[in-house]
Amino acid sequence: MGKLTLKDLDLQGKCALVRVDFNVPLQLSEKTNCYEVVDDTRIRAALPTIRTITEAGGKAVLLSHLGRPKGQPDPQYSLAPVADYLSGLLGTNLRFSSETIGSVVQKTVRTMPGGSVILLENTRYFPEETKNDPDFAAELAKLGDIFVNDAFGTAHRAHASNVGVANHFSLAAAGHLLENELGQLGNALQSPTPPTVALLGGAKVSDKIGVITNLLEIVDHILIGGAMAYTFLKTKGIPIGNSLVEEDRLGDAQEMLDKAQGKILLPGDHIVSTDLNVPNTSKTVSGSIENGFMGLDIGQETVEMYTQKIMDANTCIWNGPMGVFEIPEFASGTRAMAQAMASTTRKGAVTIIGGGDSVAAIKQSNLHTEVTHVSTGGGAMLQFLEGKSLPGLDALTDHP
Ligand code: AMP
Repeated sequence: MGKLTLKDLDLQGKCALVRVDFNVPLQLSEKTNCYEVVDDTRIRAALPTIRTITEAGGKAVLLSHLGRPKGQPDPQYSLAPVADYLSGLLGTNLRFSSETIGSVVQKTVRTMPGGSVILLENTRYFPEETKNDPDFAAELAKLGDIFVNDAFGTAHRAHASNVGVANHFSLAAAGHLLENELGQLGNALQSPTPPTVALLGGAKVSDKIGVITNLLEIVDHILIGGAMAYTFLKTKGIPIGNSLVEEDRLGDAQEMLDKAQGKILLPGDHIVSTDLNVPNTSKTVSGSIENGFMGLDIGQETVEMYTQKIMDANTCIWNGPMGVFEIPEFASGTRAMAQAMASTTRKGAVTIIGGGDSVAAIKQSNLHTEVTHVSTGGGAMLQFLEGKSLPGLDALTDHP
């Protein structure tokens, strides 16, 4: 990775300002009328870094954003419920500061004993955060002696709390989670054991052009599902009925198919319906889709073809659902891919899954512990798969 990591730092007696990614889903509980954490994956993923700091006698000052509060305080995006939850996981009395910057929180941090942990309120309560404002970054930097970035999920953004702030420290290091994410993805891209397969789905080709272009140089097969398949199929002259299509991307799709020389595989059969909201009109069709119907999931023949490719692979990377998996009638293709990923892992393949929907799908199937790596980043993973650098990583101190 070429950057400092936690292992390179002497943490004893130090105050570590740690950028974590606690952008987790919250839900208002009817019972308590308080917001509660719905999915704790990202909170648990930060525990190794927090524990390394506190066990070495350092203090951990945690910074994160949550949701999109439009640059001002908004109770539905407060990190207070996350502080309660984290306190339970750590088994210590974690402090929460309703102030993110300023003299009060600076004093609290200075006077905390070694081994303490404090979580600061949402960095996006300040419009300066997403503008990477240098003054805001300088204020944040007053809260630590060293900086640790453990937020892979925001590593593709250049914001004040992960990029601007790092410039103020002579020691800015990657935490365990960031190091692990980059290690897993880096190995899969730089030295994969072939055959290597990428499974890509989701709504739009436009979001994945960079990824497909880069992966064509690396992998043996790219299996396409989701709505983006229909832009490719239309390019090939196959009737797709009323399926979602990006007309302005037909040229890009053609270019990728030309470059791919058979590496890109497309669905041959589909679960279609007249309307998303009328799943009881659904049926499976092979080849073309008639007018009045839209493709909403991959069909069984495609499931079998893709499963075979995944089972034959030694490295497999997945991002994006195969259909409208939020609706049970159109979830079977995505669920089958989750099964295939788990099965090929059991057989010895390295499997990596990222992106909110694919991760949600593998969790729904309760198979998330049966794959090699579930990434905490969607956009960051896609940017890495595009072969582009991540600003949150670039800002850290180079390893001497
Ligand atoms: P993305 O954010 O690009 O990963 O896309 C995820 C969204 O794509 C999910 O909400 C899916 O419901 C949607 N999606 C997947 N396949 C289709 C399809 N065939 N038609 C319409 N939407 C789809």
